[in-house]
Amino acid sequence: MSEYKKPIPVIQPWTSEFWRATKQHKLLIQKCNDCGIDIFYPRKYCPECWSSNLGWSEASGKAKVYTYTIMMDMVEPKFMPDLPYVLAMVDLEEGIRMTTRIVDCDPQDVAIGMDVEVVFEDISEDCALPMFRPVTGKKKDKDKVSPAQNETRPPDTIEMSTDSYQTIMYEVGGANNSICRITLNRPDKFNAINRQMARELIHAFRNIRDVSSVGVVVLSGAGKEAFCTGGDLEIFPSLAEHQNCLNWMGHEGLDVQRAITDCEKVVICKIDGHCLAGGLELALCCDLIYAKESARIGTTEINMGILPGWGGTARLPRSMPVFRAREIVYSGRKDYTAKEMYEMGFLTRVFKDDEFEEKFEEIVAGIASKKPIALRMGKEVMARSAEGGSIETALAVERNGITWLTYSPDIQAVMDMYREKPGRLVEQQKKA
Ligand SMILES: [Zn+2]
Repeated sequence: MSEYKKPIPVIQPWTSEFWRATKQHKLLIQKCNDCGIDIFYPRKYCPECWSSNLGWSEASGKAKVYTYTIMMDMVEPKFMPDLPYVLAMVDLEEGIRMTTRIVDCDPQDVAIGMDVEVVFEDISEDCALPMFRPVTGKKKDKDKVSPAQNETRPPDTIEMSTDSYQTIMYEVGGANNSICRITLNRPDKFNAINRQMARELIHAFRNIRDVSSVGVVVLSGAGKEAFCTGGDLEIFPSLAEHQNCLNWMGHEGLDVQRAITDCEKVVICKIDGHCLAGGLELALCCDLIYAKESARIGTTEINMGILPGWGGTARLPRSMPVFRAREIVYSGRKDYTAKEMYEMGFLTRVFKDDEFEEKFEEIVAGIASKKPIALRMGKEVMARSAEGGSIETALAVERNGITWLTYSPDIQAVMDMYREKPGRLVEQQKKA
């Protein structure tokens, strides 16, 4: 057995029987001899009747995956070499739910409900770790999609590639390939969003999440007329049934929003021209919003008797003072100037038309020059805080994130540089 570098379980008198069994590759379940319940994890006393008259029985080792997550990053440094790996909760045949790892398979093949069986990894003289692997022959079940299911699903975005987009442009470039530009590309339709564009945006933002060189995504519209004027009204007849409408709002709409907010890059929205209705809602999903002075902004849905349904009604009041957000939704005005919106607390900045490109690109390049992992962590922590969760939650995410950043090897190198030359920060300040 080669030396095991990860943490080893601390064996207590009341868990020693359990760990002894793992050395013989047996999985034990603790039993209460008085009230009869199964107990997991092993304890001193029965949690039901407080009896200390406890015994053991051997589990079959057969289980089903109850839930799981794939660890891609952000783990304790000693677990880094294992990435990616699957953390799961499995339900044993005997009714016990265990936290464990799923091993011996591609993480992508793991599915909820999958049949798994126990395997043991010998890690020390005293114990082995119970883990689970797919029962051979069963792991492909999740790929079987019945024909009926297929019919109701929109054409799958999995078939798409970043070269095949018809309604958006997608380009990775800039210094060290740190910038991705995603451009809504239906200028003759004022970059209105149809179903194809929604699917392409979902695909593009999910795709960019895995490109580690990229720290910044610029979302803009092609042409000079509009950033985006919202949902393409041509698709509305196709939404005439409740079911279709629900799919458009609830599936495509929500998936676009989530793809943008979950993409882990700093998404910068560039508003040149009209930014209306669903266009404003796209902007609301971004991290920063810059507008040209001549841009015109608003939500117009109420003029048709509906409301912003792609997150706008929910997000506007979280993005600016609520008494101003209400006016924007209720008035249906489509002619708010960029300056008005800025004064109402909505935009990051407004630049004069003739300076816009230069100033905007300066900001993009500046942010793109920072470490993508630090940007990503900043996004995560600020989202937790801004979403209105408890401050303790946000602080916990912050502590965790900064600890993780501090351990990252390339950031260690930067910190060493400052340690060797403490005056460096001040010198840089003077130069700037
Ligand atoms: Zn009991």
